[in-house]
Amino acid sequence: RAKQKSRGTISLYQPEMDQQIRDRRVLHQDLSKAIKNGELSLAFQPQGIAGKTVADSEIIGFEALARWAHPVRGQVSPAEFIPIAEESGLIVEMGEWILRQVCREAASWPKPLQVAVNLSPAQFLHGDVVGLVHSILLETGLAPGRLELEITEGVLIEDFDRGLALLRRLKALGVRISMDDFGSGYSSLSYLQAFPFDKIKIDRAFIVNLGRNPQSAAIVRAVIDLGHGLEMSIIAEGVETIDQLAFLAKEGCDGVQGYLLGKPLPIGHYAGLIGRAGADAMELELKTG
Ligand code: C2E
Ligand code: MG
Ligand code: MG
Ligand code: MG
Repeated sequence: RAKQKSRGTISLYQPEMDQQIRDRRVLHQDLSKAIKNGELSLAFQPQGIAGKTVADSEIIGFEALARWAHPVRGQVSPAEFIPIAEESGLIVEMGEWILRQVCREAASWPKPLQVAVNLSPAQFLHGDVVGLVHSILLETGLAPGRLELEITEGVLIEDFDRGLALLRRLKALGVRISMDDFGSGYSSLSYLQAFPFDKIKIDRAFIVNLGRNPQSAAIVRAVIDLGHGLEMSIIAEGVETIDQLAFLAKEGCDGVQGYLLGKPLPIGHYAGLIGRAGADAMELELKTG
């Protein structure tokens, strides 16, 4: 779709569709080599406790987000390549690589901060996700309590019983589970009652509209109350302004994530937050120099 727009045409003609299918096929072929060629990497976005100001919002962890640097096209968005990986089954191998990298990385941080990683429905339902998480935790030495797995309701819609059994077994490993993008799809309240989530991530769409319409503010308030009533913690996604942050802090939202606190970047950009020595030295240099 984006490609058609950039060419200045929006067309439903057959040649265009053929082109799209070819594009996808080529992208899929490229993606299958991406891991081996070292084109995949991870960006980390800070997550903080909601405070009235940025300075008051203590960073307690990060969400890891996959990045693909295509040798010809440059950065391809995960919104484009994750669905291709899912449809083709590549996501199982890719998801394993991502989980291993994330756990390895977090295990190396001087400060024992939290790390969250996205699991896709295909990975969840077709691979041995429990065995994988368990062996990667052992292999990397990451304390299970530091790992959070983000899933969307899509995972649970497909097979309720299997989904519930998997979530329970994952939680038995000591990891935490969060429901991603809450409110964006067909989020049903019965899911919150049936599944043992530790955290709800309120979808960015509601946060964007906080200052624009009173309905969003009412929904955000209600989700915070609902989550707390179910003994789940709440984090808001896509927090971009100080007004949004102040509102969320006032309403008792536990966590915040968004460009206001920091964009998803290679972990080196956040060396100071994770307590890496190099960053301290650099800070010192800046202060004294
Ligand atoms: P998500 O898990 O809901 O991740 C949050 C997305 O919102 C990220 O987009 C992040 O860059 C973006 N974001 C965060 N704060 C802000 C903000 O303040 N403003 C705006 N406009 N955007 C913000 P990204 O990195 O493009 O990822 C898109 C989606 O792709 C993710 O949504 C997730 O569903 C999927 N994804 C990314 N990495 C992985 C992965 O490693 N595995 C799987 N299975 N899916 C992934
Ligand atoms: Mg996520
Ligand atoms: Mg999300
Ligand atoms: Mg999303």
